[in-house]
Amino acid sequence: MAKLATMPGSAVALQIINDTSFSTLEISVCENTLKAIKDMGFTNMTEIQARAIPPLLEGRDLVGAAKTGSGKTLAFLIPAVELIYKLKFMPRNGTGCIIISPTRELSMQTFGVLKELMKYHYHTYGLLMGGASRQTEAQKLAKGINIIVATPGRLLDHLQNTPDFLFKNLQCLIIDEADRILDIGFEEELKQIINILPKRRQTVLLSATQTKKTEMLTTLALKKEPVYVGVDDEKEEATVEGLEQGYVVCPSEKRFLLLFTFLKKNRNKKVMVFFSSCMSVKFHHELLNYIDLPVLSIHGKQKQTKRTTTFFQFCNATSGILLCTDVAARGLDIPDVDWIVQYDPPDDPKEYIHRVGRTARGEGSSGHALLILRPEELGFLRYLKQARVPVNEFDFSWNKVADIQLQLEKLIAKNYFLNMSGKEAFKAYVRAYDSHHLKQIFDVETLDLAKVAKSFGFTVPPAVDLKVGISKEARPRKRLGGGGYGYFNSMNNPKAARKIERTKTFGQIGKRAKDGRQFSR
Ligand code: ADP
Ligand code: MG
Repeated sequence: MAKLATMPGSAVALQIINDTSFSTLEISVCENTLKAIKDMGFTNMTEIQARAIPPLLEGRDLVGAAKTGSGKTLAFLIPAVELIYKLKFMPRNGTGCIIISPTRELSMQTFGVLKELMKYHYHTYGLLMGGASRQTEAQKLAKGINIIVATPGRLLDHLQNTPDFLFKNLQCLIIDEADRILDIGFEEELKQIINILPKRRQTVLLSATQTKKTEMLTTLALKKEPVYVGVDDEKEEATVEGLEQGYVVCPSEKRFLLLFTFLKKNRNKKVMVFFSSCMSVKFHHELLNYIDLPVLSIHGKQKQTKRTTTFFQFCNATSGILLCTDVAARGLDIPDVDWIVQYDPPDDPKEYIHRVGRTARGEGSSGHALLILRPEELGFLRYLKQARVPVNEFDFSWNKVADIQLQLEKLIAKNYFLNMSGKEAFKAYVRAYDSHHLKQIFDVETLDLAKVAKSFGFTVPPAVDLKVGISKEARPRKRLGGGGYGYFNSMNNPKAARKIERTKTFGQIGKRAKDGRQFSR
């Protein structure tokens, strides 16, 4: 099929792209790179690649939006490698290109693709990320890393504190998953990074969705006339084809039984289950392993080494269950996931799309997604529909649900550690619920705490220091963006709490978790 694409440099010139094989790049991309692409097993470019690579090779600034799984990584890595190659960057020239990515897992993954692409090249490349040894990174920087993949916090740290980091020759800055970087509160770091880096350079901004915030970043970081490449603009559905998506309606008190039954039935499949808090991931990890349903887990409160091992273990496995928070949701390419289960609902349709983006990746593959909703939450379907996400109700045979409620309650009553962990998880669930963006759908007032508690194995709900049940006005509310501390500051001061609610427009600057992220999801 012939497609029309705007050619860089001129608003009127139109080019017909009908051959999208990588070999059409022969004139502008060197043999070493093309050979590496061939080794990766790719022959044809995806749409975003076909539309973004040519203008990028010409040195244009670019803003690209294309849904997850569409092949954005190579779209920016190929031109980056070419640039360094053409300019004959040597270690002594320092850094020529920096790729910023939101999470450690994603930066490792991007680094992995870069490594494959650099197979036949001699230039140096490296990874800078929170949780790794600063000193080792600093030593490598001193020797000269031509292409860097980095998380924002650690990059800024080196820009400010590593004297031997030579970045004045920087030619290109790439910001991957820009929307996500901003969502998780790295706005301030990004601004500072952009301030420190040389101004004469190419800048590339990629995201799955374009938002007000990424527009802000475009103005801040890019030259006057970037090329816009929006791949999914005219498409019907916001999620990939080959993905079968559905929901089941499940009351609070039956949620764990449903999850347990589902996981038991699919234990030979590759399944990811999303939760709204670290504590809930931790508890369900302990609980399910205790009752002989082996599961892995990734969340923001784990040590980085643990996160990394688990991530690669799950990546390489053909089957298995991974419990996770949204840390794992963005940008990661985990092969062959059969089921994405959203046990706790996502914050909004955007997050839904990113979560299910973990399956049916790459052309021609398939996957399934299951969203578990409480009857009170069905209004969320309307939002999904607006966001062009096609979901149907899945048939679920309730008579086959394992009735282990009594055993669960007994276990939680007698096992001290599970009991403590369960309490934390229960509280975290209620708090996360209370901080939900879509308050009209996910209204904490609709939670019957006694019933919620049953799904954590409690006959009596543990105390939560949320004033559920009191009028909305008087109750302190967490700010948008999910930051932690403002909420506690206002606990004893309803007036201040109301003020916060009214001014909840932007993410916060300030206190951070140890690992550099704002809140540990
Ligand atoms: P995105 O960043 O848009 O979410 P990725 O770059 O992670 O997507 O790519 C998604 C998947 O598609 C990966 O498994 C990748 O190996 C594969 N892929 C990338 N480019 C191609 C291509 N040209 N042909 C086939 N598969 C590709
Ligand atoms: Mg990506």
